[in-house]
Parts: sequence; structure tokens; C-alpha cells
Amino acid sequence: MKLLEERIRRDGKVYAGDVLKVDSFLNHQIDVELLSLLGKEFYRLFGDCGVNKILTVEASGIGIACVAAQSFHCPVLFAKKSKTSNIGNDFWSATAHSYTHGNDNTLIVSKSYLGKNDRVLILDDFLANGCAALAMSELCAQAGASVAGIGVVIEKAYQKGGALLREKGFRVESLARVASMSPEEGIRFCD
Ligand code: 5GP
Repeated sequence: MKLLEERIRRDGKVYAGDVLKVDSFLNHQIDVELLSLLGKEFYRLFGDCGVNKILTVEASGIGIACVAAQSFHCPVLFAKKSKTSNIGNDFWSATAHSYTHGNDNTLIVSKSYLGKNDRVLILDDFLANGCAALAMSELCAQAGASVAGIGVVIEKAYQKGGALLREKGFRVESLARVASMSPEEGIRFCD
């Protein structure tokens, strides 16, 4: 989406360690009007896939998931990051390595809210190495839910996540694909 690319180019800041900060409109302060357009774009891409639930992970996926859900007319389920791996029998759980914090998180969702009748759209703010999306797909597999696709706002296409998920057969749609970025040379998008 050109609008999103322009906004990233204008307001995004590239940090060492391959981290793109978009705190002014996506990850800290939220431009709800922009997110509303992004949500509608996800609906244009996945609206005919029978989605009845959007799954994301706390905290930064929740905003985009909620605005998208207004178009899909379905609930949002966000995976919580558990402090302990010993979380009992009422949860589906999967481990994800955190790209930004460098630690492993156990993602959990209640068995009450994810089951075999669910057709899930996985949404997240960023796609880097694919750990978060893969863990969410694992939660769906445990629950017997089917995955309609994976939508991300910003894919860093030079990192391995996109290829990994597509190789596994998931349909992955990104609203902006970063081809390369560095503090010196800025951000370049895929054609
Ligand atoms: P992955 O699990 O695909 O390696 O990384 C995706 C997750 O890490 C996203 O949920 C996002 O919160 C975080 N992340 C990865 N790369 C970036 C980045 O460049 N900037 C920010 N703000 N978050 C990122």
C-alpha cells in the first residue's frame, strides 16, 4: 500500500539490530484512521475466506486486529504471553522467540475461544523471522482450527519469516514489504 509505504518512509526510524520503529502511528501512538484503512485492505484480501476469528498476539497486534475485525464482523482473540510454561490444561500453548526482546515467550489462548469450528486469520504488526506467526499457527493446529491466512502490516522481506511461512503453505499477505533498510541508507521497499 503506497500510503503505508509513504508513512513508513516519513515517520519510520531504522535502528541497529534490524529494528524498524513505527511508534508514532502503529506501535505506541496509534493513527486509528490509517489503521482503519489497513483493516479494510485486509478485508479486501481475505474477506472471501470464511474467516470467523482473528488471532493476534499481545500487545502490538491488538490495534490492527480490532480495526480489521470491524470489517470481518468477527471477534479478536489475542494470545497472551505467559510468564510460566506450567499453565495447566485449559490453554493451548506454543513457544515463540521474541524478535525485539530476545527471550522466549509461551503464547497461550484459552481452549474456550479457539476450537475446530474456527477459521482463523492471523494478523500481526511485523513479520521478521516468522516465530510469532508460526506459534500462532501452532495454537490453531492444536485447537483443530483452520488458518485462512496470515496478514502482516510490515514484512521485512529480506528476513526469513515470509519465505518460511509460504513454504509451509500459508497464504501470507503484507501491506508493506521492506526490501532492505539501514540507518545510513534508509528504507527501500519491494516493487
Ligand atoms: P518474528 O516473530 O516474525 O521474528 O517477529 C515478529 C514480531 O516481532 C512482531 O510481533 C513484532 O512485534 C516484533 N518485530 C519484529 N521485527 C520488528 C521491527 O523491526 N520493529 C518492531 N517494532 N517490531 C518488530
